[in-house]
Amino acid sequence: MNDFKDRADELIVAGKTLYAQGMVPATSGNFSARLNDGTLAITVSGRHKGQLSGDDIMRIDVQGKPIDPQRPSAETGLHTQIYARYPDVGCVLHPHPRSATVVSRRWGDFIRLSDYELLKVFPGIISHATSMYVPIFDNDQDIGRLAKQVGAYMGENSPLFGYIIRSHGLYTWGKTVADALRYVEAFDYLFSCELQLKEA
Ligand SMILES: [Zn+2]
Repeated sequence: MNDFKDRADELIVAGKTLYAQGMVPATSGNFSARLNDGTLAITVSGRHKGQLSGDDIMRIDVQGKPIDPQRPSAETGLHTQIYARYPDVGCVLHPHPRSATVVSRRWGDFIRLSDYELLKVFPGIISHATSMYVPIFDNDQDIGRLAKQVGAYMGENSPLFGYIIRSHGLYTWGKTVADALRYVEAFDYLFSCELQLKEA
């Protein structure tokens, strides 16, 4: 319980950082972190991510059931799924970067990122001479149905560092909030490069 405030403070800073970069406009996005007791801290539904305070972060259990009285993010099921599958993950960030949204409208089921030095930001990648596939799932207001599709993909593709929901946004995760934040920035940069190449 005493790490709740630490993780909440980190998520608040992540919100300010991503908002300043234009990646969580108009209350979009949601963030979460795993606590020492195995429960999760997650942003309350509908709050502005650039202006988060302690009241905007609440606790849920691993199934996504609220421990605190507020209502968690509508996409809680996509967060709990990641923690359940990857025991090392301590933070999930879901921003709506313009780059990911546009990529998802111009690519099909995945985007391949190859030969970028910045790929080395991701754990286990030690050379630019590699390819990473980032899957793109069609958006769905039925989060349970979407989670099923994502889960099937996760079961067959490892390692996985993130995915895009079409015309919607990005999910990525890491051991710490700082790690996940770094992956958001890396994905945004890499997607932006690909978009520029497509237009060139
Ligand atoms: Zn979303």
